Amino acid sequence: MKLPRRRACLDQIKPYVPGKPIDEVKRELGLDDVIKLASNENPLGPSPQALEALSGVLPKIKYYPDGDCYLLKKALASRLNLKEDQLIFGNGSDEVLKLLAEAYLEPGDETIMPSPSFSEYEFVTRIMGGKVKLAPLKPDFSYDLEKVLAMVTGRTRFIFVCSPNNPTGSIVRRREMDEFIRKLPEGVIAVIDEAYAEYVTSSDYPESLEYVRQGAPVIVLRTFSKIYGLAGLRIGYGVAPAELIADLGRVREPFNVNYAAQVAALAALDDEEHLRRSIDLVKESRIRVARGLEEIGLEPVPSQANFFFIDTGFDARRVFDLLLRRGVIVRSGDIFGFPTYIRVNFGLPEENARFLTALGQVLDELRGNS
Ligand SMILES: *Cc1c(COP(=O)(O)O)cnc(C)c1O
Repeated sequence: MKLPRRRACLDQIKPYVPGKPIDEVKRELGLDDVIKLASNENPLGPSPQALEALSGVLPKIKYYPDGDCYLLKKALASRLNLKEDQLIFGNGSDEVLKLLAEAYLEPGDETIMPSPSFSEYEFVTRIMGGKVKLAPLKPDFSYDLEKVLAMVTGRTRFIFVCSPNNPTGSIVRRREMDEFIRKLPEGVIAVIDEAYAEYVTSSDYPESLEYVRQGAPVIVLRTFSKIYGLAGLRIGYGVAPAELIADLGRVREPFNVNYAAQVAALAALDDEEHLRRSIDLVKESRIRVARGLEEIGLEPVPSQANFFFIDTGFDARRVFDLLLRRGVIVRSGDIFGFPTYIRVNFGLPEENARFLTALGQVLDELRGNS
């Protein structure tokens, strides 16, 4: 078989490393009780109202979905006080990132992203033959936007800002973000990824949608995968000035968001009580897990999200493996370039307790006093 030569830019792309699925761990290690704290999902799952709405979906799946997400767009625009032409939905916010790259990146164009951060920024840049410049976070894990602006060249198209940042949970504060948006050079788009915005409690968190309302070259990304508990259905969205959204519309597949996702997201938006419960659970977990970590001699990076980035002091692959054997799936920091860190999201209280016990045992073993 003689295939054509694959595009040269694909040589730069490493396949995404997802969190290990529960069933795979059960199979490989012969365990029957496994918990996953590796992909920042909501342990409460979706709103019961979303599940109820989904039960009406099956009889209609022979039809194509509404390509424009009409009802959902209307509901969300009114909720966020935006115009409908300032919104675009994607098959996860991952897809919106890809639409951005397809709409604006020519080969050789550049993007700037924090490091460590979400690997999709790198992926969507490279797939278009673009070049990623990494802006290392400061030692306190804050994002130095002054330094980022100094990295801009004539080829820079996007600056990715992930706030709260995955995997650290750190945010960009309002004053820094305001100044950054004001100083954005002509022809550069700020991509503000707010996948975990709902969990932020800091009063210093910027109201990023305001930049869009003011017409700045900004796109804010949000998702139904995290707090709304709909990761498996794949739906997220971007908020940006209408001209930018129109450019993305040119590269969007006609039926990119499936019917079930639209129905569930619409119902989920209405369930404020479920949202409140999900936020409260995370707020409580942040305090409890931090306290539990302190008891075993660890301190997480201060987080505004539903996960902690933790320096274990040992080879994170080892820690990961030893936790896995105890039925706890986390994420090893080596994929983020932090080989002694793990990232763990909060689960239900009993899952958090189980994680802390397991981690305590693992550290004992590694410290040689088991
Ligand atoms: C999880 C996550 C997303 C959401 O991706 P979806 O495609 O909407 O599931 C986006 N950005 C970051 C930083 C994330 O951690």
